Amino acid sequence: MRIAIAGAGIAGLGTAWLLDPVHDVVVFESQPRVGGRVLTVTTSAGQAVDVGAQHVAPGAFPLYGRLLEELGLAPEAVVEVPLSVTVLRGAGSAPALVSPHGGEAGRGRSTILGDGWAAVRLMVDRATEWRARDTSWEVPLSDLVEPLPVARDVKDTLLYPLPAAIFGCDTTRVREMSARAATDLLAAVPPASPDEAPVWHGLRAGLGGVPGALADGLVRGRVRTGAGVRLLRRSGDEIEVTDSTGSLHLVDRVVLATHPDEAARLIAPLPGTGGLVGALNEFGYTEVLVAAHTDPAYMPAERRHWSTSTVTVHGGWAESSTWCGTDGADVFKSWITHREEAPRKPLALASFRQLCLTPPAVRARTRVAAAQGRGGIHFAGHYLHRVDSQESALASAVDVARRLAPDGPRLRRLLGRRPAAG
Ligand SMILES: Cc1cc2nc3c(=O)[nH]c(=O)nc-3n(C[C@H](O)[C@H](O)[C@H](O)COP(=O)(O)OP(=O)(O)OC[C@H]3O[C@@H](n4cnc5c(N)ncnc54)[C@H](O)[C@@H]3O)c2cc1C
Repeated sequence: MRIAIAGAGIAGLGTAWLLDPVHDVVVFESQPRVGGRVLTVTTSAGQAVDVGAQHVAPGAFPLYGRLLEELGLAPEAVVEVPLSVTVLRGAGSAPALVSPHGGEAGRGRSTILGDGWAAVRLMVDRATEWRARDTSWEVPLSDLVEPLPVARDVKDTLLYPLPAAIFGCDTTRVREMSARAATDLLAAVPPASPDEAPVWHGLRAGLGGVPGALADGLVRGRVRTGAGVRLLRRSGDEIEVTDSTGSLHLVDRVVLATHPDEAARLIAPLPGTGGLVGALNEFGYTEVLVAAHTDPAYMPAERRHWSTSTVTVHGGWAESSTWCGTDGADVFKSWITHREEAPRKPLALASFRQLCLTPPAVRARTRVAAAQGRGGIHFAGHYLHRVDSQESALASAVDVARRLAPDGPRLRRLLGRRPAAG
């Protein structure tokens, strides 16, 4: 089959890689580069900084872990990243919390635990219980946080801001987020002991190597950057794709691996898509500006309070600054959309959108899943599974591949299945 894929993020490239070489795939990407919200820049000293996605959860990201092995990136290129957190209630304030990192004494580091840390542990324990019981994803975060025996002030200035910082949304709107989504990553990797941070994984040369390797791994398939999908039209049994350069392409199937609002725009002119357009428009995003920089603009005054991630709670927002230099020179990746001060030594700036998954959006997912493949149109993307992550994007690609190339060799290997006998 001839298959057009819109979007060269992990979802679109993952779909292409899984369908290739069984089908004839072309990936259309509106930007001049592949990767979508995976973007790695390199400092003059050769240190990689992930401006977009950066950390992956061992154990909780099984498909992504196997993909890294298939691409020859794991285990050699994988680095362990203990994720500790410092919370500042206001720019420049003394830390309200410095969570364990592990080996504090040897690092000359001091934790600040107390009631704040006890409250965070209660929230993560409750999230872990909800995960184990598979509580509905349609319950809002406020239903998880409000019953906790924790002071109002600590809920407002610590418990709500932590997930708000992860998903880029404001500290009020986060209460309406799906509780399972808001806490999924907080509970994804249990620490080895209460005195240590959960250990996540990253790639030494950055996650940007993954989209590059997926594109390079296409045997028959092609990727066309700077050529987004502009229009879809049905033409008998085929679908006519017009790209942004004005070229027409006739294909048998289309996979929309864009954000859901863009997928809605593209299918809206096709007959009978009204309900699906409504479902795709249920997903709410926040625009964020992220900087890679070398000045410790958002770090606590004292180095002994530095964590992997410093969250500053200010003016209804919670913004994170990730210290990427724990093993090298000091380099930071910071959300700066609402900061009063910009970093003085920026290496790179990028605008992204982050998904704030609400209960209505969780319900909309079911409607999108039910429409998969109707009229030859499939949907892939981070918004279709769990939370906005590399694993969800890849899981959505696997779903499409199960329908379009169920016996594809790469799909089989990714799922750990043996080749069919005979
Ligand atoms: C700052 C930040 C940090 C993050 N950190 C992490 C992390 O540490 N770990 C983690 O797992 N996840 C993280 N995420 C989430 C992760 O980046 C995403 O879930 C994942 O990369 C999404 O992949 P995707 O392919 O679904 O979408 P995207 O990467 O958003 O790709 C969509 C692509 O579609 C293209 N496109 C749009 N319209 C069209 C069109 N009409 N035609 C053709 N192409 C089109 C876009 O240009 C884009 O390239 C982070 C996200 C952000 C923003």
